[in-house]
Amino acid sequence: MKALVKTSKGVGNVEIKNVPEPIPGPGQVKILVKAAGICGTDLHIYNDEYPSIPPVILGHEIAGEIVECGKGVRSCEIGRRVTARTFMVTCGRCRYCNTGKDNLCPERLSIGSGVNGGFAEYLIVPEKNIFYLPQNVSYTAGALTEPLACCVHAVLEITHISAGEKVLIIGPGSMGIISCQLAKISGGYVVVIGTDTDKKRLQLAKDLGADEVIISSQINSLIEKKMSNTFDVVFECSGTEGGLNMGFKLLRKGGRYTQIGLSGKLIKFPIDQTVYKEVKFFGSFSHTWSSWDTAIRLLSRGLVQTEPLVTDKLPLSRWKEAFKKFKEKRCVKIILTPED
Ligand SMILES: [Zn+2]
Ligand SMILES: [Zn+2]
Repeated sequence: MKALVKTSKGVGNVEIKNVPEPIPGPGQVKILVKAAGICGTDLHIYNDEYPSIPPVILGHEIAGEIVECGKGVRSCEIGRRVTARTFMVTCGRCRYCNTGKDNLCPERLSIGSGVNGGFAEYLIVPEKNIFYLPQNVSYTAGALTEPLACCVHAVLEITHISAGEKVLIIGPGSMGIISCQLAKISGGYVVVIGTDTDKKRLQLAKDLGADEVIISSQINSLIEKKMSNTFDVVFECSGTEGGLNMGFKLLRKGGRYTQIGLSGKLIKFPIDQTVYKEVKFFGSFSHTWSSWDTAIRLLSRGLVQTEPLVTDKLPLSRWKEAFKKFKEKRCVKIILTPED
């Protein structure tokens, strides 16, 4: 089968290769991939800024159909439409594995970075990772369950928003736009900030419920003064130094700040502000089983939309064009499909 492989460490070293079709081992299922989303993490892996164990097939946001079950698989049926959690290996013994926080397991290996992922025709995952897609959720929308679960973890499980709170989201990429929807259903008043290149993304955030959208270059000193120290909660989804500094400026004293975006490098951080403002600072990494369970419920009840985030669908063979478009932010979410 054809697969998009990170062949070795270093910047780049990503190419389409012909690889053997995977065979499901005991307790594993084989999925025919129908849709796989490109994520910021894929770009970080391309740039060697996120750990990976090459040679490895990229892609961790997937939806497809079960075509084969390995020995001892009891709960999965062939032909079902599914998406899957991304942790292929966890130790099962550590504090984190035993308290429902296997995202923090030191031995965790995920599809698309540590083990083979979904930018391919077929993919193998453990039976326990499978979630059935509800009737009303397409493969395209279902492939984005993974970023939705990440945002559920950040917004609903780690930060918690009370009705009426003023929420700032920095960076209207898919994580920002999904977090915006989650903050809205929590009862927040949500403001989304982006840059000049984010105009279309900001419009989408507005269409999906943002109360206000702002382009950062239009924030003059007067507006900044008015907005400073006013937000109860900030979600930083851009992973940039500018975003982080702005977030701390606009957050009120005693407010909650959650870092979702990865920067991939060292950045200057206004640490004194966490002291002066008594900020509660959270990091949110990946997702837990409960975030997936909630994500699926939200999708099935139509409380969160992921389909509108998909601006482009391209065959796997056009991955270079897709990565370039994603890097240049000329899209929100791009789905790769194995068939041409
Ligand atoms: Zn992702
Ligand atoms: Zn563990």
